[in-house]
Amino acid sequence: MRSFFRLLFRIFFLSLLALVVIVAGRTITFSSRQVQVEPIAQDTTPMGASERLSAAIQIPSLAGADSSVFGKLDSLLQLHFPNVFSQLQVERIGGGSLLFKWPGKQTKLNPVLLLGHLDVVPADSVPWRYPPFSGTIAEGFLWGRGALDDKMSIWSIMEAIEWMIGEEYYPERTLYLAFGHDEESQGKNGARQIGQWLESRDIRPEFILDEGSFAISHALEGLEAPLAAVAVTEKGFVSFTLQLDRTEGGHASMPPSFTAVGAMAFALERIRQNPFPASLRGTTGQFFDYVGPEMGVLNRIVLANRWLFSPVLISKLSEDPAANAIIRTTAAPTLIEGGIRDNVLPLSVKATVNVRILPGETIASTQAYLEKVIDDPSIKVSIADSDYGGDPPAPSSVESFGFQVLQKTIGEIFPGAVVAPSVSAGYTDSRHYRQVCEHIYRFSPLLLSLEDLKGMHGVNERVSLENYERMIRFYRQLIRNSCQ
Ligand SMILES: [Zn+2]
Repeated sequence: MRSFFRLLFRIFFLSLLALVVIVAGRTITFSSRQVQVEPIAQDTTPMGASERLSAAIQIPSLAGADSSVFGKLDSLLQLHFPNVFSQLQVERIGGGSLLFKWPGKQTKLNPVLLLGHLDVVPADSVPWRYPPFSGTIAEGFLWGRGALDDKMSIWSIMEAIEWMIGEEYYPERTLYLAFGHDEESQGKNGARQIGQWLESRDIRPEFILDEGSFAISHALEGLEAPLAAVAVTEKGFVSFTLQLDRTEGGHASMPPSFTAVGAMAFALERIRQNPFPASLRGTTGQFFDYVGPEMGVLNRIVLANRWLFSPVLISKLSEDPAANAIIRTTAAPTLIEGGIRDNVLPLSVKATVNVRILPGETIASTQAYLEKVIDDPSIKVSIADSDYGGDPPAPSSVESFGFQVLQKTIGEIFPGAVVAPSVSAGYTDSRHYRQVCEHIYRFSPLLLSLEDLKGMHGVNERVSLENYERMIRFYRQLIRNSCQ
């Protein structure tokens, strides 16, 4: 008997030893994926750049505004960037969108395409520190709607090119710029038409850069360096209608145990209690492969051994709404309606659930999941608007020319930042270009805090003047690196 226990102890001890060896081995071989590049000189950016962006913010080009508003922005661009308009070819598409072409000398090279959008969301009625369309420059910042989403992209790209033309730079590779005017309302007249325009001429960009992610300081506990998350994919988007119709109503004085309102509330509660399964695979796994080696030893052990620690990691990430959004599909009830009077049992109740779909899942698979979780045949689940939303795109490669050139440029302009592929929780114009390019990346070259991000679509949107100048330098360097 004693020898049996000894054997058992030995097996246990050897298994534990094997586990420690595997965990240690994986931690040691969990090596950095960052590239070493020399930071470049911080050249002085063109004078008056922030004033020009301020003038753009003073034109309230709200999503859905008529084309004359976008015509004003077009005129402003012509006024600010005369060299760009004389050297580049320009097409006006869809009643407000702009497509520029800077022809390269080597016509055999695929072009590069940079995206931005001219429209903005409305400003909240709560008071801002400075009025949202004043474009005030104060306290080291430029304040206003569009400072982070997304006029700063367009104006800084134009500043960079105007600057480069002044330096007599001539690209080897052709550069396209596509500025949509209805990104905030799905890009149907802007980006979609530009995508079709490019496709009909068989123009196939080598890579595309759009908004959708930033460099963030103190992004993660245990990561000292700023995190430059380059989104290689984005979540899909769909809204489902949950409809419950009963044939018998009645008086509220003699209710059944479950009224239509109660049944719908129960269905929504089941969705809350049964979140979509979390995944640390795919792009999320890649993200940890890039970030993990740059962290302290404890985090490195956990992230190098996700096969062992994933339950702990998932439960920790699920606590934070932003982290939760990149590890699973999320479902948020956003609208509910039903009933006609306080003392009448309603016949119909309708709820809307907005679903953000993680790459790997689809609209159809998320619908099937919700139907299974609700488990009530009297509640019909259907797509609220089939023309609104879409499946998530396949992730773009980190081996491509586009990703590598971005990683190099980020290293040059944001020395010490950790670059990692990521999933954007937002929904961008870039989806309208999938048919012409498989290498699509989303990154706005701004170094922000998590606090700054609240200004996007929120109150007190602002960009620091330092950030804006760096942004201009970034685009100039990106064009040099990719179009030479
Ligand atoms: Zn945007």
